[in-house]
Amino acid sequence: MVDLARRLGGRLPFGLGGDPNLPLTYQRRHYLTAAAFVVAVALSMPVFFPDDASLHLANLWLIYLIAGIGFYFMFGLAGRFAFCQTFLMAVGGYTTAYFAVQRGFWVGLVVSIAVSVVLMTVFGLLLRRVEEFYFAIATLALTNIGIEVLQNWPSFAGANATRFDIPPITILGQRLATEMAAFWAILGFVVLTLLLGIFIERSPIRRQTLAARDRRIAAEMSGMNVQGLQLRLFVFGSVLGAVSGAILGAWQSVLTTDVFGIDLAVGLFVMVIIGGSESLWGVIIGSAIVVFLPNQLQALQEYQSLIYGAILLFGVILMPRGVAGLGDSLRTRFFPRRWEVAAGRGGDGSLESAPPWFKGSGVAPVEPAHGPDDEASSPLLEVREVSVAFGGVLAVDRVSLQLRKHGEVLGLIGPNGSGKTTLLNAICGIVPYSGTVLVRGRVTPRSPRHVSAAGISRAFQSPQVFPSLTCLENVLVGSADREFTGLTGAWIARPQMWRHERARWEKAAAALARVGLLRYHETPSRLLTYGHQRLLEIARGIVSDPEVLVLDEPSAGLNKAETDNLADLLEELAVGGLTILVVEHKIDFVDRICNRVVALEAGRVIAEGTPGEVWRAPQVAEAYLGRRGIAEG
Ligand code: ADP
Ligand code: MG
Repeated sequence: MVDLARRLGGRLPFGLGGDPNLPLTYQRRHYLTAAAFVVAVALSMPVFFPDDASLHLANLWLIYLIAGIGFYFMFGLAGRFAFCQTFLMAVGGYTTAYFAVQRGFWVGLVVSIAVSVVLMTVFGLLLRRVEEFYFAIATLALTNIGIEVLQNWPSFAGANATRFDIPPITILGQRLATEMAAFWAILGFVVLTLLLGIFIERSPIRRQTLAARDRRIAAEMSGMNVQGLQLRLFVFGSVLGAVSGAILGAWQSVLTTDVFGIDLAVGLFVMVIIGGSESLWGVIIGSAIVVFLPNQLQALQEYQSLIYGAILLFGVILMPRGVAGLGDSLRTRFFPRRWEVAAGRGGDGSLESAPPWFKGSGVAPVEPAHGPDDEASSPLLEVREVSVAFGGVLAVDRVSLQLRKHGEVLGLIGPNGSGKTTLLNAICGIVPYSGTVLVRGRVTPRSPRHVSAAGISRAFQSPQVFPSLTCLENVLVGSADREFTGLTGAWIARPQMWRHERARWEKAAAALARVGLLRYHETPSRLLTYGHQRLLEIARGIVSDPEVLVLDEPSAGLNKAETDNLADLLEELAVGGLTILVVEHKIDFVDRICNRVVALEAGRVIAEGTPGEVWRAPQVAEAYLGRRGIAEG
């Protein structure tokens, strides 16, 4: 079975096996799936939805599907706990109803899209720093207030927030008043929604969003504008909610706020969670369950909330990755990919091969240094009198250090708790500090993204890879080239986006080859060993050709062979001109790779010089031994 699947490779009919000439994300055949879905729905209409009653349900399903896909982008993909999708549906519904009376459905729709964009951009900006639980509460509050406003605004939403006689959708002057006519129009909206969604799925946005959701700080430290991207997806998802509400009103010709209550809010969660929160296609299944299941259980109609709740509960327990995740597991079982097969055999062997799309030679030379070093030019990295206080305790106390030359490796040593990691966090703009950090003589704005843009890359003390992404995607997140990685690239400038993507793949693959992980380019990074995760982080760090690579105890948790391998790699990188600031404990390791060493104790610099000088300094020995003495005493 395994061999068969492998031999078929990309040659399954209709490319169902995926196109091996593209990286994994782009192998998914979304267009094909979308076409198959739409044709299936269209063809099955006379069979499954022969009468108005069943067609009514089908229409409701498709309308909810649009809102559900919007919710998928903000909640499933971006990981924002937004509870306001039902409110957005209400905004879309009532705004469209209001304007449609005079000017028709389409004007109403355009106005409601504009209103929701403005409203949610403002709201999203206000809440851009608010995370998870608090974001959920804030959006819930917005929904309550919003619905309350609608209920007390009769001139806009009608008495008791009830609007009758909402004009139906019109196309070329034709009123689509029957269920059948509405069905085709709604299917058209679904096709558009799916296209916009697929364009996002097949763009750098998918990997960036998942990275930010998995590990926000590491994503920012890789140079991503996390807030900006999450805001855009939040607004996009909200607009889909408004469109869904607009269609709902025009289709029913009646609107009350009852529809937009807690049942629908929970229903939206069911759609995304049961369907699988990382799959656009899961929402189709999820929304079908939400709409059709309670109807199948007519007798239980009054227990609808209970049924939703039970589905949600059991779904989460039994299928943590939703229906789509279940499908994925089955596929892995019966049609394993190359890396899955290899993992079963011990993870080596035939995998050495480079991806077919990779044009590079395998191992890339490290990019030459950015500019000539001369004594007069400013240091690559200069830390001046930096202090960090945590509630009165000085974790870092007026530390200064410099990295002057390309290819220099500065070691930072000191007992546990001496402030090494905190100093790195200050340099990277992750914690507030007093003092100055200069990169090439310029003060960097204090945020990880700007520090990254200035030319600092970072690997963390515990490896911060993005577990949902493949190794190649992990490295791609660190690409310095961010042209067309947003909605413009996804929706409008796709040819340019593809051109830049190909260049990015090439560079990322070269970085993977550099650290010896090219063979794992399609492997999800969560399956890597600890040592490989560290190498992957380094690949992500060097792909942007940084001025300085900052490493926090890179050899921690590695065995002897892995440590030697890492030292070889760092040495090679330094010879190639990469400047490194490395926190380390292992004496051999430090002696081997560092030109200079700075020792910290209780946040203060206690010694500085060559590795030999620093280890021999009495205050350093005392700092280490003193600690041990206390521990043993
Ligand atoms: P090292 O990396 O040298 O082992 P750290 O920089 O992690 O040391 O920690 C230095 C000191 O700062 C320790 O006393 C630690 O408890 C404290 N510290 C680190 N991070 C925080 C934080 N987020 N809040 C409060 N104290 C912290
Ligand atoms: Mg530390």
